[in-house]
Amino acid sequence: MTTPRLYGRRGIVTGAASGIGAATTRRLRADGAEVLTSDLTGDIDLLLDVTDPDSARRLVEQAVARWGGLDFVVPCAGISAFCPIEGHDEAYFERVLAVNVTAVFRLLREAIGPLKRSPAGRIVTIGSIASAFGDAGLVAYATSKHAVLGMTRALAGELGAAGITANCVMPGAIDTPMTAPAFTTMPEYRVHWENKAALGRLGQPEDIADVIAFLISDDARFITGQGLLVDGGAMTRM
Ligand code: NAD
Repeated sequence: MTTPRLYGRRGIVTGAASGIGAATTRRLRADGAEVLTSDLTGDIDLLLDVTDPDSARRLVEQAVARWGGLDFVVPCAGISAFCPIEGHDEAYFERVLAVNVTAVFRLLREAIGPLKRSPAGRIVTIGSIASAFGDAGLVAYATSKHAVLGMTRALAGELGAAGITANCVMPGAIDTPMTAPAFTTMPEYRVHWENKAALGRLGQPEDIADVIAFLISDDARFITGQGLLVDGGAMTRM
């Protein structure tokens, strides 16, 4: 019997109760990895709000106490909602940055020490097609996802000497509880994204999870500092 490709790898996934985080956890475990899961609610290991300044320390401490080390981090928790710039609520803008950017920064800062001691440290952040392009009505979200891509690239440069790779997966429109309200209330928006993708469909969480697992695996050992669009070819059809 062959050894599963992520056998012995130990890591953290936030936002693991739903959508892409849940699919990623399933995929990583199927590949033999051990995963410490966290979210606000749901069937996970650690209930926490990533915007709580202490949550990153709690997560990393728990991982190291459980395994004695840490090999990968996937900060997947995120929020998004339509909000045009005119009359944009400032508290909501700051909330999006707190969840999608500051919490990612805090978790990665906390994880660097243990990741440096791993023989194959991996950071996989979750950007978006909105890390590279705009999307009308999503000014806070696009701002946050551009920031995540920038953070990932900066860390790749900083941490390469320690053998840590850092890459940003940038999904297109994926069928998850995050997008469900918009796709339900605006069926034309769903059709827009289906038609926009060269492959003619929305992505499924597993389409993203499989790429994340690849980036954590040894097959991706020479890939770092990349923003990888996983959008079914949406940007091939302007
Ligand atoms: P989702 O809503 O299904 O999952 C997000 C999870 O994050 C939820 O379980 C939620 O409880 C958790 N979360 C939110 N705020 C939190 C907080 N403060 N503390 C702890 N957990 C919190 O959405 P998804 O589509 O699976 O999104 C996962 C990631 O993928 C997000 O970063 C999102 O921005 C990104 N993304 C999604 C799409 C898409 O089309 N669905 C596209 C590009 C990027």
